[in-house]
Amino acid sequence: KISTSYNENEDNINVVVRVRPLNPKEMENGDHQVVEFPGNGQIMVDYPPNNPNEKPKLFSYNVVFEPAATQEDVLQFSGMKRLISMAIEGFRCTCFCYGQTGSGKTHTLTGPPGLIGPKSVAYSENHGLIFRSFMYLFQRIQEQSNTHFILKASYLEIYNEKVIDLLNAGTIRKPLAVRWSKKACGFFVENLFTVDCEELDDLIAVLEEGMRNRSIGRHNMNDFSSRSHTILTVHITSELPAENGVFITRTGKINFVDLAGSEMTKKTQSEGKMLEEANNINKSLMVLGYCIASLSDPKKKTNHVPYRDSKLTKLLADSLAGNGVTLMIACISPAKFNVSETVNTLRYAARAK
Ligand code: ADP
Ligand code: MG
Repeated sequence: KISTSYNENEDNINVVVRVRPLNPKEMENGDHQVVEFPGNGQIMVDYPPNNPNEKPKLFSYNVVFEPAATQEDVLQFSGMKRLISMAIEGFRCTCFCYGQTGSGKTHTLTGPPGLIGPKSVAYSENHGLIFRSFMYLFQRIQEQSNTHFILKASYLEIYNEKVIDLLNAGTIRKPLAVRWSKKACGFFVENLFTVDCEELDDLIAVLEEGMRNRSIGRHNMNDFSSRSHTILTVHITSELPAENGVFITRTGKINFVDLAGSEMTKKTQSEGKMLEEANNINKSLMVLGYCIASLSDPKKKTNHVPYRDSKLTKLLADSLAGNGVTLMIACISPAKFNVSETVNTLRYAARAK
């Protein structure tokens, strides 16, 4: 259910693919699976479908999670644990899910809605990667009893190039400014609510509250979540006592990013507001693509990377550039119905590797 390629595990970007199972609706419609798994982190796609003149397309990644892979498998084998360890050591890390709407991004990151609550720390097989990462983070922190840790978390949404705080109910829907400062060593969101998290439950409450605010007031907007990006950030500061009462302080962070549906990147028939939205999504995913392509190719590192071209890449710039480490989880559907979007996602992910 999982296949991996040779992996140094030293790269500053890891690209993994998760393939969701065929869903009941696809099965009802008589759809079938067009992706195959030859092993070694490879995916083979029959594309264009049923065309005898075309060979199936072959793609290769660090890790491939086949439909039978579990939520826990994603934590254990995606490289996420390495990201958490590095964030504890003071690096800036990002994990993002990319893919068309319905491909499993939110399922992978947070699991189904309603599962998570401050009191439901009890294990559930559906809990997503964020929940599991929080548990792992606390486990690691508790092992280091000589170090004092300070955790803070924030949760925001970028919709149509506007940044909205998902934790501060008072300012909901009121866009916040993105600014640059030397002190913050880069871009930051002005007046973004940042919660001190002393316990695992505090982090889980942040996740829960953000998820709830993400869905509030959207009932008359057709599938709002597919058109916005969300970023949940955990800042980790550690103070390790050194000699003579001096402390060594390090600050790292992890961003968990649930991206807007990548199907927006194709030329849409949209008009007016929809077109503006599509263009903004288009642009931010394209710029993100440039940024990670330059990250994966050290020769291109000195080239100009257009971080400033979108809010998303501004806010991720410090982890995409410099000493950051990034995990990209490309989510795809196995169904023939979705095959052209699937190939788009696989190409985007292959460029990042
Ligand atoms: P996205 O966030 O990419 O739009 P979702 O995560 O909402 O997609 O997934 C769409 C549907 O498919 C949801 O009902 C979700 O529960 C289901 N799903 C996605 N991935 C899986 C998986 N690996 N196993 C079981 N169900 C899944
Ligand atoms: Mg989603």
